[in-house]
Amino acid sequence: TGQQVLDEADGAQIKQLDAIVIGAGFSGLYMLYRLRELGFSTRVYEAAEGIGGTWYWNRYPGARCDSPSVHYSYSFSPELEQEWEWSEKYPRQPEILRYLNHVADRFDLRPAIQLNTRVVSVAYDDVTERWTIQTEQGERVSAMYCITAVGCLSAPNTPNFKGLEAFKGHIYHTSRWPHEGVDLSGKRVGVIGTGSTGIQAIPRIAEQAAHVTVFQRTPNYSIPAHNRVLTEEEKASIKKNYRQLRQSDRQSHSGLTLNVNMRSALEVTEEERQRRFDEVWAIGGLQMLAAFSDISVNLEANTYMADFVRTKIGEMIHDPEVARLLMPHDHPIGSKRICIDTEYYETYNRNNVTLVDVRTYPIEEITPTGLRTQNGEYTLDAIVFATGFDAMTGALFNMNIRGKNGQSLNEKWAIGPRTYLGLMTAGFPNLFIITGPGSPSVLSNMPVSIEQHVEWISDCMQYMREHRFTSIEPRVEAEDAWVAHVNEVANHTLFPLANSWYIGANIPGKPRIFMPYVGGVGNYRVKCQEVADNGYEGFRLG
Ligand code: FAD
Repeated sequence: TGQQVLDEADGAQIKQLDAIVIGAGFSGLYMLYRLRELGFSTRVYEAAEGIGGTWYWNRYPGARCDSPSVHYSYSFSPELEQEWEWSEKYPRQPEILRYLNHVADRFDLRPAIQLNTRVVSVAYDDVTERWTIQTEQGERVSAMYCITAVGCLSAPNTPNFKGLEAFKGHIYHTSRWPHEGVDLSGKRVGVIGTGSTGIQAIPRIAEQAAHVTVFQRTPNYSIPAHNRVLTEEEKASIKKNYRQLRQSDRQSHSGLTLNVNMRSALEVTEEERQRRFDEVWAIGGLQMLAAFSDISVNLEANTYMADFVRTKIGEMIHDPEVARLLMPHDHPIGSKRICIDTEYYETYNRNNVTLVDVRTYPIEEITPTGLRTQNGEYTLDAIVFATGFDAMTGALFNMNIRGKNGQSLNEKWAIGPRTYLGLMTAGFPNLFIITGPGSPSVLSNMPVSIEQHVEWISDCMQYMREHRFTSIEPRVEAEDAWVAHVNEVANHTLFPLANSWYIGANIPGKPRIFMPYVGGVGNYRVKCQEVADNGYEGFRLG
């Protein structure tokens, strides 16, 4: 691989590489593939026992992708596209994990991936102008480039409830679900959290458990997935049309080709609006938000759709009080991550499911036998935390990254992340961030954004090698202008109106800054390409 081992002053040995990649999910695997093809000596460090990232960790019942399988896959290899066959419209977690393992084997990536290795520090040396990482086991590795592929949704968030340690039953976090599975039959289960994960898991848990009590702080809008097995004709048609499909995903707003209606919800008659809402509801999934052109930017248009979904909820739920509790009223539809479900609302009609409103009566403590809210006590055998992640910055902050002059990333970003294009941050030369804050990332169908980042980064490294540059970092003015642009674009939408994890609202004390870039995957790609074509405009090369 071209790697060397040098002796340090203290006698310890330190591996020398061209590039270190941290994380072996969708991002890390493709980054490794590209760098290896370009002849950079590269090694991937991954905390988990296996590859797959999100799809390695999130094994909870009902775990499934909200992007259709044909769009949620790599496009870089036509051979891979032709040989892999997706079984369902929305793939389940085990199928995606199988796919990523297949990719690792097919492209012989495993020899360069070191599993069971958590990176605990990442430091830049001003003298050697290289990055050194340290692993939990104490191994130190040095490289010219460090690329974080640590995931936007990989640092789990477990609220610090009083009494948690005293609970005598079992506690599970959905993103750390035991590999051997959990038998919840006959159990009284409490589920905390009704975001995307809770909404996927609750119906499946309710099928097994004796009783499920759902503790809901914020009701979310959920759209039916209408998932189904793909027919042989559909599979053949997908394989035939992959090239056009990928091209259109890359140019789209969300990295996903949707049938976007270019008309405003305000310019049509009430009957037409209703007809269109019925039509997209019947299709299901993310198509819903493309019903009209202005759902995510105009509050009046948005309210029409929110009213439509609330009416649907009312129709699905038998008990009017439960229906009322499940209807979101505190944020525009789509301003928090929209949820996609299979039988979520219907689950509340089961007689073994109870909904508890912890917005009005907050959770006071976990007790040895269950959980106490301000107005009730619940006996539980198991508690499932479906409480999401410290999104976008959590996994980066966990690594103690230090740039030039020992500056800590956590300090630099203390009042909000600052990047140029979501790819790099000033003061941290040769440190690339895949799907970093300030890039479309979590607002997009992520494999499309991941591939674009990986390709931009590897092209940049190749350019530097050809032009004999050894260092790249954003100019502060370019970074400031990008941060301002990211905020300005977000402020033209309804996103900032919600207390979402996009804005850090789920983590106490986290600065409230809208982190992803709303400007659209297609536009963003053009901007990144322009920057590269203009000799990496806004970056300082040395
Ligand atoms: P990840 O898959 O998160 O991989 C990051 C890896 O880095 C992990 O394996 C982690 O262990 C490792 N790591 C982190 N820190 C360290 C460290 N310090 N040392 C060593 N290793 C480290 N996206 C969509 O586009 N559509 C969807 O429908 C969708 N559904 C999702 C459903 C769930 C339940 C979740 C959690 C996410 C979903 N996502 C979805 C987002 C998903 O995370 C991305 O699509 C994609 O999998 C991200 O890949 P990644 O490689 O960038 O990050």
